[in-house]
Order: sequence, then structure tokens, then C-alpha cells
Amino acid sequence: MSKQILVTRSSMPPMEEYIDEIKDIWDSHWLTNMGPKHKELQKKLEEYLDVDHIDLLTNGHMSLELTLQALNLQGEVITTPFTFASTTHAIVRNGLTPVFCDVDPKTYCMDPTKIEELITDRTCAILPVHVYGNVCDIEAIQKIADKYGLKVIYDACHTFGETYKGRGIGSYGDVSCFSFHATKVFNTIEGGAVCYHDERFGRDMYGLKNFGIRDQETVDAVGANAKMNEFCAAMGLCNLRHVDEEIAKRKKVVERYRANLDGIDGIQLNAIQPDVKSNYAYFPVIFEPETFGATRNEVFDALSKNNIYARKYFYPLTNTFECFHRQFDVTKTPVALHLSKRVLTLPLYADLDLNDVDRICEVIKSCAK
Ligand SMILES: *Cc1c(COP(=O)(O)O)cnc(C)c1O
Repeated sequence: MSKQILVTRSSMPPMEEYIDEIKDIWDSHWLTNMGPKHKELQKKLEEYLDVDHIDLLTNGHMSLELTLQALNLQGEVITTPFTFASTTHAIVRNGLTPVFCDVDPKTYCMDPTKIEELITDRTCAILPVHVYGNVCDIEAIQKIADKYGLKVIYDACHTFGETYKGRGIGSYGDVSCFSFHATKVFNTIEGGAVCYHDERFGRDMYGLKNFGIRDQETVDAVGANAKMNEFCAAMGLCNLRHVDEEIAKRKKVVERYRANLDGIDGIQLNAIQPDVKSNYAYFPVIFEPETFGATRNEVFDALSKNNIYARKYFYPLTNTFECFHRQFDVTKTPVALHLSKRVLTLPLYADLDLNDVDRICEVIKSCAK
């Protein structure tokens, strides 16, 4: 049996580097609650991501969930079903109603030409996702938000380190939420962040991530516990030193995939966006069975037989989840539905061997008619 290739593999610094980084924690006995590692990582990320303000959290999901709470939203939030469960759950867990907008067939991000028809007098915000690191149509979305007085919260979990028109991607919208989960381009084991402009939002968020406690005798919000601990922050400090190199290696993997798969009938590769500095987070491929000669599921199975594990990401759409008991009409997002049945995200991580990329592509090509 050929060697196993999983869809992703977490980036880790040299072990000695991490051990060195956490020595201070043994000296200080300060394990969590916004200690020195937390502060240092926060400052370094503010610079690296080129944003006004950033706050660090336990994970990407809490950054979305607490952002919606901190903005004190009520009513309906226009969002996309072509995303990870977290995006939709953050809306529903805040007592808000998700209203699903269809996506663009090339970027897989929210289609801005379909937003306005979904706006009602209950709409309070737009929550698009920069899916696979593809950047949404930021100008069009902002124009609509301004016209109707809506907040814009980006799920930027896939876009660590990207820039759009030379500006940090996290600087767009009212708030941009990042994930530093083990499987992401940059990880703090588990972790997340919010990037924002409004200092009042920052104060509210800081409270909400610590039970809404303002000071020892005042609790002024029904908060949660979502503070990044010192060990996670230390991992982030180490990984941040290597992230540019990791992204450069990912780029090589992506280029190898493209060299192998570009121009094959029935295969659509990810769009290249000229204004975006990419982080090469994912390599999604759309298989059109009529022209390619095999379905997405057949390709998935052929890869599995060769010990290669791609991911049906994003399938199923969040508006079809069992937990929502068919309350959403999936036929209203036909492009997203089409993509979710045809997409396969191929293995991609910094240390993926280029010969393995060739092998993956050979298996894919052997599925074609
Ligand atoms: C990873 C991810 C999240 C959630 O982040 P966690 O850190 O795992 O909580 C949310 N949205 C998207 C698009 C993601 O990929």
C-alpha cells in the first residue's frame, strides 16, 4: 500500500523553539488571562495582518459568535451556505436568523448581485466568507451595506496573511474574524482573533471573552469564556516566525497541482484574483461529471483506494443540516448546491512532496473518460 496522504497536516515549529518559548511561563506561573505571551502575539499579529486593532480568542468560532453579540444585532443576517458549520451556527446561537444568499460560480464567495433582493426591514448585517482564501467582492458588499445601514462581518478564517489591493484583508468590513485552528495556514493549536476599527467594539469584545467582567465588582455583560491561553499564544509566536516560508512552500504545491490539472475538460480550478496576495490555503477542484467523465464521489473513492484523503469541503451546505429541520429552502441557493455536489478539496500543506502531488493528479486523471 502506498503511503497515506491526508488532506492537511498541521504546521509545527522545531520542538526546541517551542520549549524555549514556554520557559517564561514556568518562571511566571501565568498560564492564561491575557498574560505576556498573549500581549506579545497580539502586537505582532496587528503588524503582520496590517489591521487597526486585533483581539485574540480561544478559536475562530468564538470570534464569530462573540462579534455578533458585541454588535448587539437583532433580526436577520445575510450569509452564505457554502461554508463551515461555524459561520451559520454563530448566527443561530445568537438568536439571529440566517438568510442564505447564493454564491458566485467562479470565486465561490457570496454573489453580491443577489444580496439586495434578500434585504428586509429585519436585516441587520451581512456575514460573507472569504472561502478557500478567495476574497469576496468587498466593494460591492460595502456599497450595499452603506446603502441600507448594515454591518459587515467577514468570516476571514481562510485568509490569514492575505492582502487585497495592498491592504490587510482583516482591515475590511466592520469586523473580520480569523481562525488559528491546527488545520489552518497559521495555527495557535486552537485559536482565533477579531480585527476591527471601532474601539468601543474592542472594549465590548474584551469584556465578552471574559464573562462580561469589567472589574472585580462589576459584571456588565452576559459574556462567555474565550480567552487565548499562554501556551497557545506561545505556539503562535513560534509559528508566526515560519509562516512566510510555509506559505511559499504551499505556493509550490499549488503551482504543481495547476501544472498537472489545468486545461483538463470538466475540471474547474480555483480562480486567480489579481488584486489578492494569496496564502494558498486550499486547493478546491470542481468536477463536472458530464465533461470530466467521473463524479466527485468517484474521484474521492479512487483517491481513497490509493490511500489519499481529499475532503468534500463544503458538502453538505449548511442550509441542509439536519439540525435545521428543513427550515431553509436549498433551491434558493442553486449555485452553492451545484458546487457542493462537485467540489473536492485536495491535500495541501507546506511539506506535501511534489512527487505526491503528481501521484494524486495521476489518480484523478485516471478517473476521466
Ligand atoms: C475554521 C473555520 C471556522 C471556525 O474556526 P475554529 O477556530 O475551528 O473555531 C469558521 N469558519 C470557517 C470558514 C472556518 O474555516
